[in-house]
Amino acid sequence: MMAVEVRNLHYKYPDDTVALRGVNLTVGKGEKAYIIGPNGSGKSTLLLHLNGILKPQRGKVVILGTETEKWGEEVKKKVGLVFQNPDDQLFMPTVYEDVAFGPENMGLGEAEIKRRVKNALKIVGMAGFEDRSPHHLSYGEKKRIAIATVLAMDPEILVLDEPTLSLDPWIKKSFIELLEDLGENRTVVISGHDLDIMDLCDHAYLMDEGRIVGEIKNKKEIFQKYRSLLRKRTNLISGNQK
Ligand code: ADP
Ligand code: MG
Repeated sequence: MMAVEVRNLHYKYPDDTVALRGVNLTVGKGEKAYIIGPNGSGKSTLLLHLNGILKPQRGKVVILGTETEKWGEEVKKKVGLVFQNPDDQLFMPTVYEDVAFGPENMGLGEAEIKRRVKNALKIVGMAGFEDRSPHHLSYGEKKRIAIATVLAMDPEILVLDEPTLSLDPWIKKSFIELLEDLGENRTVVISGHDLDIMDLCDHAYLMDEGRIVGEIKNKKEIFQKYRSLLRKRTNLISGNQK
């Protein structure tokens, strides 16, 4: 059984922007997959389908053998999604309440909730921040808390949308180490266009214009294919200006 199976997935936003044009991909249990693609290629739209936030308009998304629509809300316990923008994930007055939110919704007891919050904050290196307001934290700290909110639910599948985007280079290094630790005993799907992250992943899917345009199992090939995709796009843009 695959952890994630996406078949012929199409998605059009209400304003008629077509974001996905028949995406196919599979991620095996315990695998680390990277979705690499330029801005606007449909990465976030695809990831929002993995835990049921968006519903397939055509095609299907199968998580651990069951379609997301059959899972209903339960899929959110299986697939933890860390949004591209941490401000979309954090909405409570304190860090503790934000991290406790998921476990509370799972109906866990008070002691177990406390244990999970403590553990999640420890993993992301944010122990002691329980009473702080998430809104007043730095961007990198917010990103860590956003990851903790998902870890507290202990999902089998962890999905991170551009986790290193806009991080300062020195913070990015510790983030990559964190992501490496999180990957142990879990299936991980990461999106972005950060070639450093590639080192953590078993394979990558190259995404462009709402489609998967290549599957890459070899790191050297990633650099080559991604660069040639960017070159093709740059030529298209400069061609249009003539
Ligand atoms: P990526 O994450 O790779 O940058 P997105 O999935 O965010 O790509 O976007 C794919 C396409 O869908 C883009 O053309 C983008 O402008 C469009 N899009 C994204 N979100 C919305 C939205 N809420 N409404 C309309 N169009 C959107
Ligand atoms: Mg995105």
